Order: sequence, then structure tokens, then C-alpha cells
Amino acid sequence: MASEKRELVIIGAGPAGMTAAIYGRRAGLDVLLLEKGATGGQINMTSEVENWPGVQSATGPELGNMFREHALKFKADIRIADVKKVEAREGSRVVATDKGDIEADAVIVATGAYFRRLGCEGEAEHIGQGVSYCAVCDGAFFEGEEIAVVGGGNTAVEEGTYLTNFASKVYIIHRRDEFRADRAAVERALANPKIVPVWNSVVEKIEGDGLVENVVVKNVKTNALSDLKVSGVFMFVGQLPYDDCVRGLVNATKDGWVITDEHMATSVEGIYAAGDVRDKPLRQVVTAASDGAVAAMSASAFIGRIRHARA
Ligand SMILES: Cc1cc2nc3c(=O)[nH]c(=O)nc-3n(C[C@H](O)[C@H](O)[C@H](O)COP(=O)(O)OP(=O)(O)OC[C@H]3O[C@@H](n4cnc5c(N)ncnc54)[C@H](O)[C@@H]3O)c2cc1C
Repeated sequence: MASEKRELVIIGAGPAGMTAAIYGRRAGLDVLLLEKGATGGQINMTSEVENWPGVQSATGPELGNMFREHALKFKADIRIADVKKVEAREGSRVVATDKGDIEADAVIVATGAYFRRLGCEGEAEHIGQGVSYCAVCDGAFFEGEEIAVVGGGNTAVEEGTYLTNFASKVYIIHRRDEFRADRAAVERALANPKIVPVWNSVVEKIEGDGLVENVVVKNVKTNALSDLKVSGVFMFVGQLPYDDCVRGLVNATKDGWVITDEHMATSVEGIYAAGDVRDKPLRQVVTAASDGAVAAMSASAFIGRIRHARA
């Protein structure tokens, strides 16, 4: 039996988890927020966020810091701990961390997701300097410019088409000679005069002094190298959830995205999920925060029923 007992344990201090902590505290719950790294989550990786309503522009770390200060104002207990596993036991849930086990009346899983990296030379140092993994986040920064998209599945083709709303030309670099995406999406993309497929090709290197200026592309059939003078490279080679701590416990898609209902309830009573870790259509700060609010209020109602039963 765990020695520490809390009402609401939230796993992950990104936008979803910190919003859940604010709502949980304002609902009068005892809230413990666990974070394995730096608070703020993925937005720490971006130099500019300009789609969080009310804040016209902020760096990611600035926004993350504002969320943290807000959660602390309501006296959320934020602790650095890596959650290894969540277990459901009769009448309660146990959160196993690298610092010990915690028994919780309710748990919100807000562990987020990550973008697969391509792994080519020049990628890591240009993240936020022209290399992006999110068209909705960064597309508007490339108004009138020529950019490249990497990938050939649905996300690459659909996001490439979306990016033509801003860019003057979108090269789609794909290692095969046809896209893997749905036929309708492919037809729409190929009919778009701003889209230029670069078939049978892979990215060899991303170059630029500070900002991205050039992508060296290798033709996989001829091994010939060529330059694409672009100011942005959008990588769509996959996004995956950080679902390890609840894998096998809650219902999820085959890739691990946690399935919830509209109350953010998972398949296991008392366990909720919020933010990017969920199976959902749009992964953004604003949708993560929205999920966090809903999850906290659902957890509050659940804990209220537990309190009532114990009284
Ligand atoms: C480069 C980049 C730019 C972006 N730009 C924008 C933008 O401009 N606008 C926008 O709206 N969105 C943007 N996004 C997307 C946005 O950051 C995410 O949608 C949002 O952060 C999701 O919030 P979240 O709380 O669900 O997850 P995350 O932000 O991923 O936070 C999850 C947290 O959980 C922690 N965690 C994970 N596993 C464990 C564990 N086992 N134990 C303890 N802690 C754990 C992680 O360390 C992390 O801090 C961007 C994303 C990236 C990568």
C-alpha cells in the first residue's frame, strides 16, 4: 500500500496538466502535479506561439512559465518525478514513480506526445529556425516563401496542401514515386499548382547559417544530390504518444493514443486523459488546455462522489 495518498494526481506539466491543476485547485481538490522534466511541455521547444488567445505573441518557454505561475498561484503541488506505471486497484489508483508510489482517488494522464525526427544532418540545430513539425503552429511564418515538406503519408500530403495557404511553393520530398495518402487527398494536392512533388528522394542535409536556407536532397535511384533553396522544412514522419505509464491499462488506438469520451474519461474508472496523448484531431496548446479543464471537472465530480460515500 502506498504511504502517500492524494485526491488528484496529474501526470505531466504541459498545457493540459497545468490547466487541469488550475481547475482542480479552484474546485477545492488536493492536487499533485508530477513532471519528469521541465514544466511547460512541448512548447518549451518553440521560439514563438501566436495562437494562444489573448497573448498575441510569446516564446514557448514564456507561455509555459505563465501556466506554471498560474498553477502555483492556486497552490498546486508540483513535483519532479517520472511516472513509471499507473495501476487501478479496487476503489483507488496507484501511481508508481521513481520517487515512490502514490495512491490517488483520481488520475489525469497528460503526458503529451512527440514528433519523430528524421535524423538527418542539420535537423536538430534548425528546429524553430525553419525546421518544424507542425503546420498549424508555424505555417503562417512562411507567407510568400518557398518551403519543403518531408513525407508521403496522409499528414504530409494534407499538411502540405494546408501550407499552400501561406507559402508560394511547397516541395513534397518523398522516397517513393507515389504518395501513400488517401486518393482524394493526393488528387487535391497534385492539382494544386503550388505543390511540387520531389519523387524518389530523401533529405541528406539541412543547411543555413542560423535560419534554414537550403536542403540537400538525394535521389535514391541515381544517388544524385541537388539543392532546394527553401526557408522552411516541415517534417511529417510521424507523431507518437507518451503512453508508457498506462499502456495495457486503458483503451487506446493501435499506436497508443489514449481513447476517452467527451468527459476525458478513459476506459478505467477514475482515470482521465487530457491533451496530446489523447486520440484527437488537433494537437495544440488551446485544445490541450481545454481537455485539461474538462478532465479536472470530471475528476472533481468523481472525487465528490467518493467523498460523499466516505462521509
Ligand atoms: C516545436 C513545437 C512547436 C509548437 N508550436 C505550437 C504553437 O505555436 N501553438 C500551439 O498551439 N501548439 C504548438 N505546439 C503543440 C503544443 O506544444 C502541444 O499541442 C501541447 O504542448 C500539448 O500539451 P500537453 O500538455 O498535452 O502535452 P506536452 O506539452 O507534451 O506536455 C506533457 C508533459 O508530460 C511530461 N511527461 C511525459 N511522460 C511523463 C511521465 N511518465 N512522468 C512525468 N511526466 C511525464 C512531459 O515531460 C511533458 O512536460 C508545438 C509543438 C512543438 C513540438
